[in-house]
Amino acid sequence: MKQSKLLIQTLRETPRDADVVSQQLMMRAGMIQKVAAGIYSYLPLAFRSIRKFEEIVREELAKDGCQELLMPAVLPAELWQESGRWKFYGDELLRFCDRKAKAEVAERRKRGETPDERDFYNFCLGPTHEEAVTDIVRKNVRSYKQLPMNLFQVQTKFRDERRPRFGLMRGREFTMKDGYSFHVDDACADRGYWAMFNAYNRIFSRLGVKFRPVEADSGAIGGSFTHEFHVLAGSGEDAILSCDACEYTSNMEKTEAPQLPAGPCGDRIDLKKDHFCTPGVLGQVEQAAGMKDAEHDGMPITQTSKFYLMQAEFQGSPEASKSNPADAGQDKVLLLGVVLRGDHELNPVKVKNLLGATGLELMEIVEAEAFTGAKSGFMGPVPAEGTRFSELRSQVRMLVDRSLEGAVNLTCGANRTDYHHFGLDPKRDLPGCTFADLRMAAEEDLCTRCGKGRYQAFRGIEVGQVFKLGTKYSKSMSCTFLDELGKEHPMVMGCYGIGITRTVAAAVEQNYDADGIIWPWPISPYQVHVVCLDPGSAEVAGVANQVEKDLEDAGFEVLHDDREGLSPGAKFKDADLLGFPLRLTVGAKGLKEGMVELRDRRTKAVVKLRPEAAVAEVSVARDRIMQELETAGGR
Ligand code: ATP
Ligand code: MG
Repeated sequence: MKQSKLLIQTLRETPRDADVVSQQLMMRAGMIQKVAAGIYSYLPLAFRSIRKFEEIVREELAKDGCQELLMPAVLPAELWQESGRWKFYGDELLRFCDRKAKAEVAERRKRGETPDERDFYNFCLGPTHEEAVTDIVRKNVRSYKQLPMNLFQVQTKFRDERRPRFGLMRGREFTMKDGYSFHVDDACADRGYWAMFNAYNRIFSRLGVKFRPVEADSGAIGGSFTHEFHVLAGSGEDAILSCDACEYTSNMEKTEAPQLPAGPCGDRIDLKKDHFCTPGVLGQVEQAAGMKDAEHDGMPITQTSKFYLMQAEFQGSPEASKSNPADAGQDKVLLLGVVLRGDHELNPVKVKNLLGATGLELMEIVEAEAFTGAKSGFMGPVPAEGTRFSELRSQVRMLVDRSLEGAVNLTCGANRTDYHHFGLDPKRDLPGCTFADLRMAAEEDLCTRCGKGRYQAFRGIEVGQVFKLGTKYSKSMSCTFLDELGKEHPMVMGCYGIGITRTVAAAVEQNYDADGIIWPWPISPYQVHVVCLDPGSAEVAGVANQVEKDLEDAGFEVLHDDREGLSPGAKFKDADLLGFPLRLTVGAKGLKEGMVELRDRRTKAVVKLRPEAAVAEVSVARDRIMQELETAGGR
């Protein structure tokens, strides 16, 4: 391919609205172009990388017998209503009306009604396709003999993200490979899950990126579990903790926190009310230091506690009906008090999962202050008399982090501005409280799996996820099969996603230097950049064309920079920015000695060779690069 004909415009300056390296470099290299927030055109070079990655995905999935299909991007509301997600998916689901629904709205307006157009939305852009694929399978698969079945597509998805950013990494429109498997029972679904887990390991290993499969949060759906695959990069949005002694690696929001021994807090004392006066000090550390009296000169932070007032929501969930069956299908809100050690961080995901809640929010400060009778910083789990908190105490579900199980003599907010209690013993003073793992695990915490190693922290970009769904969709959408005895059962499902475009960007996040991108060979738009320094000279251009042809005939993908009127410096700058693994320079100066130059983009090592040896030398270089990729990438 001749560069003079390629649709490409490189930029010297970093675009102002590009926040991360992959976005900056891919925009500067003329690979992607922003059309609207979170919506990009993939220009020819980027599209080549994307297609190559898709092919890797297809090849590996074919090994497991997965079948490719293509479902519509536009989906009818009815399917989403059947699964119940039309109500719960939220604003990421872009909903709209077709012309029929619009006509209905117009008709009602004519009749003097004031319909809300949103009530007439009857389509959406698919952010994921569980409903669509379940609909296909329930209409086409009847017998256990047809199962298991794994169906996937590579398709444009749309999610109306609150904050689209980071170029291809968090777009609103993006390409995803989404796969779904259907099984006769749990054991078969587990096998299907691990087959996909292994396939994903092969896929990301082939890419040559450093990645980790990590245990992730599966929400509150019973019988489900999940792993995310993360490319490790400082710009990653997720925090990952990995044990330095065993295999345990998990998303921080899921990582189990070790139960710490209750600190040496002395002999158990009564709860001394309003014992410390700590006016105006809000930070935990400062507060602990400020807790002084005749007996104490400050408190270790491990002897302090913190308290959160929250509201848990149960939207039409069975939890709502537990306390009162009449509530079945009704939304319900539960008041929550959560107590943590002063230096620990609350993990809302753990709280939500523990309760099986559909939503969780901190109580608004103003509301909490009115409820407890104290300013923020001085609220605690033991209500002050005469407050709404003390009136409703029996209705506040009290949760205490398990690191405080057995702890005594803690300090806590007194629910009186500027005061703290001393002597809190959660078990004694918070009757009916539940002890559970509610905090964020932290770097250097002792691993809960092996009990030997310590957690190390990484940042990761989630590029894929495998999920054992169970029967959530098959039950709500009646996707069943008949067993050997003709008995009907819901299919057990799994779903498996890879962010195709996000992965390509993540590969750039891990592979670049000050001059530009350094593409991993398997997804580089082209493999060899032939740079002709003197395209005006028939002799030099002739050699460059010949080298291009020889390499292409040998199966290499070549971009030939044949552009006229550019200095060697400008051409080299562009070549470095585009970042193909090998650059082959053909110039009048070198050819005087009968030589061209082959340069490795990553190591910058240069070898001189005769043009006729180009294919042989490039083959050697490719083998070396692929070998390095195998050892550098993966786990
Ligand atoms: P995230 O937590 O990053 O929002 P997700 O867990 O909601 O992602 P999934 O539903 O698991 O995403 O989708 C499968 C894959 O699709 C993800 O692992 C990710 O690689 C990709 N993906 C999800 N959202 C986006 C997005 N907004 N832009 C690009 N890729 C995305
Ligand atoms: Mg995910």
